[in-house]
Amino acid sequence: MTRYTKAMEQRSRLPRLSVLPTWERLLSRFSAVGEASPTSLAAYLSLLGVLSDTRLTIERMLGRVCVALPKITQLDLAAILTLEENKLQVATASLSPRHLERLLQSKSLKREVQPRSSRSRISPPAALDNNRRIGFVVVEPLGEFEGKPALLLGASQTVIPTEEIKLVEMVSQLVKLRFTDQAAKRRAEHLNEQLSTLTQHLSDGMIILDATLKVTFWSRPLERLTGVPARLAESKSYDEVLQSETFELLSEPLQRAINDRRQSSFSADLEVITKRGQRRWFNFSGSVLRGRRESIEQIVIVVSDISHRKMLEQKKNEFISIATHEFRTPLTVIRGYLSLLNNHRKGLNERQRGYLDRATEASDRLVHLAEDLLQVVQIEQDRLQISQQRFELAKLLKKICRDFKVRAAQKGVSLTFSEPEFNTTVELDPMRTEQIFANLIDNALKYTLRGSVKVYFEQAFDRTFKADNLVVNIKDTGIGIPRENVAEIFEKFRRAHRLEQIREQGAGLGLFIVKSFTQKQGGRIEVRSRPGHGTLFSVTLPLAKMSVTARNKER
Ligand code: ADP
Repeated sequence: MTRYTKAMEQRSRLPRLSVLPTWERLLSRFSAVGEASPTSLAAYLSLLGVLSDTRLTIERMLGRVCVALPKITQLDLAAILTLEENKLQVATASLSPRHLERLLQSKSLKREVQPRSSRSRISPPAALDNNRRIGFVVVEPLGEFEGKPALLLGASQTVIPTEEIKLVEMVSQLVKLRFTDQAAKRRAEHLNEQLSTLTQHLSDGMIILDATLKVTFWSRPLERLTGVPARLAESKSYDEVLQSETFELLSEPLQRAINDRRQSSFSADLEVITKRGQRRWFNFSGSVLRGRRESIEQIVIVVSDISHRKMLEQKKNEFISIATHEFRTPLTVIRGYLSLLNNHRKGLNERQRGYLDRATEASDRLVHLAEDLLQVVQIEQDRLQISQQRFELAKLLKKICRDFKVRAAQKGVSLTFSEPEFNTTVELDPMRTEQIFANLIDNALKYTLRGSVKVYFEQAFDRTFKADNLVVNIKDTGIGIPRENVAEIFEKFRRAHRLEQIREQGAGLGLFIVKSFTQKQGGRIEVRSRPGHGTLFSVTLPLAKMSVTARNKER
């Protein structure tokens, strides 16, 4: 008997482990081998090292386990066996495989070695070699190795002490963990291969990032689009792979999606300089996939080359810009003459006055359209100038509501503004902000035939950016927006109602401008609507920084 086992026997019996061992539990066993010889302690430690070293191939790990076990126990042999069609095969052993195979012919041993846990005395003992005989075995199931049930077999001539059985059990559980881990890795590799086959026929590229934002998948089409090969991209952080400027621009919507659990998808159009030095436009549309307890598992990003679309858009914007400038000049002349005529209204008869009013109204509409079109071009070309000024948002809204009072009264719709009881100081562009709310209140009145339009404030806190926000609500009891059109009303030239449904003119540009102005100022806009019952537009804007501190002081 080795000194190690003697020492173990002197200690109290350790309880049987019902769950997988943790390193703490394993290490606690060292207290029981305090008196073990330095050599067996070293062997014990080296076995632990072998089991935990994930750089070792599974085959080498199994080989070392089989060599180590007989050194630190009184087992005469240790082997890993697999079972295929009821035939035992030796994966690795501390004996020569031929020797062991001969031993396995013994009926009594064969009976014991099954893919279920058993530890027992075998009778009659199996012949180990000419002089020795195996009388006791310990068999531990290891789960599946390369798709076959596997077992760890330990055999001894003498009775195997309980502590040693427990040791074999723990070693098996650790080996089992490596098997499961390897199977999971194989499955992931297989899925990656499938994904790569599937995606290489798509024109769009695909990037998959892990929870640490490392690239785990870089599809073939992406190699073509960016000029970056998968082998250079994979296992690097995505900002290392993409151009640094692009990273910064993509980083913001990506971080937003990562932090905001309610909105886990994002989309961004970015200009990228490819490895070959070409400038191209890509759309990055991504989704953050979360596992249990909301932890991030993967981020899947689909990358489409939108350079052609961007070029067409640019040409279209240039055309709109030139055409609008061209029709603005004659329009100014027409308005000048109309205004002259208006100065002499008294000299006109009632019919002529009617013609004049209609011509003035139509020319006003054209002026608005020209202004809207020019603003759209500015937004599209990212030329929007935003100034910043501190002002009371409540005051501005009160003024806008006052301006719309007459219009509301003409329509027979009540327009009310509820004064907030809290601070509404913002640091925004007053003109653009006025345009946002004038547009929304104008729409609310336009699409409400009877009932009311209510404008009121709310306070909100943005958890992602840890900032105090203001929410302005514009709630009407109008015709509402059909469910299928809600998602698209913020796109340009989109109208949710046909002209024959509602006799209101419009080019479908207002909400596109409203959304762009809101986002450009760090805000967001949401809409909720029930067709036939009304619509609620909510605009969230950041409160001015200083006023937050002042408010905190007040608390
Ligand atoms: P428009 O010039 O057509 O009003 P907008 O961009 O301002 O363009 O609005 C787009 C579409 O959204 C409108 O055509 C209308 O169908 C719908 N819409 C906007 N506001 C409301 C509202 N308050 N109630 C119902 N529908 C609305």
